[in-house]
Amino acid sequence: MKKHNFNAGPCILPQVALENTAKAVLDLDGIGLSLITISHRSKEFQAIIDETEALWMELLNIPAGYKVLFLGGGASTQFCMVPYNLMKTKAAYVETGVWAKKAAKEAKLFGKVEVIASSVDKNFTYYPKVTNIPTDADYLHITTNNTIYGTELREDLNSPIPLVADMSSDIMSRPVDVSKYALIYGGAQKNVGPAGVTFVIVKEDILGKVDRPIPSMLDYRTHVDKGSMYNTPPCFAIYTMREVLKWVKAQGGVKAMEKLAIERAKVIYDEIDRNKMFVGTVEPASRSRMNICFVMAEKYKDKEEAFLEFAKSQGMVGIKGHRDVGGFRASAYNALPMESAKALVACMQEFEKKNA
Ligand SMILES: *Cc1c(COP(=O)(O)O)cnc(C)c1O
Repeated sequence: MKKHNFNAGPCILPQVALENTAKAVLDLDGIGLSLITISHRSKEFQAIIDETEALWMELLNIPAGYKVLFLGGGASTQFCMVPYNLMKTKAAYVETGVWAKKAAKEAKLFGKVEVIASSVDKNFTYYPKVTNIPTDADYLHITTNNTIYGTELREDLNSPIPLVADMSSDIMSRPVDVSKYALIYGGAQKNVGPAGVTFVIVKEDILGKVDRPIPSMLDYRTHVDKGSMYNTPPCFAIYTMREVLKWVKAQGGVKAMEKLAIERAKVIYDEIDRNKMFVGTVEPASRSRMNICFVMAEKYKDKEEAFLEFAKSQGMVGIKGHRDVGGFRASAYNALPMESAKALVACMQEFEKKNA
């Protein structure tokens, strides 16, 4: 049976990227060696990482003065690297869910954290207005897409202080004005590759302003200076990332990704709003295009397990909601075909016919 992959991360990737990676694992471009057995200092791997960086620069129209880094440690390591490198005394954080809270928790190790906006009052079901950004804070940290709660901020804020964004789960799903950010980071495993590589887009002139000693591996300047090759980079994951970005480019770039994301999300949200058995958990204005959260309507609460079973029998994968939200979550990342969105809708309609 055809599977429809709604996993939240790691998640669906373009088929062509998987096929090309599989080939390269056996024989990289006909050189008679596997991608994962060659030196990261070889000219073959250097060409791969250079092209990956060039694709980032091109697809997101990254201006001069910024570097793209490929690191290990996941987005979670960035939660501490950001304050380590940028916080002198105080930073402002926007609290929009689990990941945002984890980021703020690490920052507290280095100074004062001021939570300037939060949606905790309604269990993170909306994106709070970000106003009154304190000009005496060293930076403002936001999470643009809240993977667990399904809220998203799609505008690039005007911040009077350096703006730092965790874009783990919506990177490359829309054009971003990178010039408005000091630093953008994320784990690759939601829209741009497999787990194992973390991307960081950093404006070089924000670095080197704190007095504390920073261990080499946690100092962005180390990785800027060494072109992400201070130590062995995650070669395999970077290769797949390159293939994913080549695919994004071939589809028409981030503008095309955005158009698809809008259409795909609309198909699913329209059905949630129409179907009397389901309700969306997020305020419409804040609804994420990437992670679509919904629950069973009150009257049908006892049908949750039955729907999960039915959806599974129809090939749906990964639609069980995160334990903090319950219900269902359909993640609709870049590589998810419209056909899968429509299959989920068909499944919801059939379930309604049989049960409501
Ligand atoms: C998944 C996720 C993370 C954590 O990423 P890791 O690479 O597992 O550390 C952080 N932030 C957001 C928004 C995420 O979706």
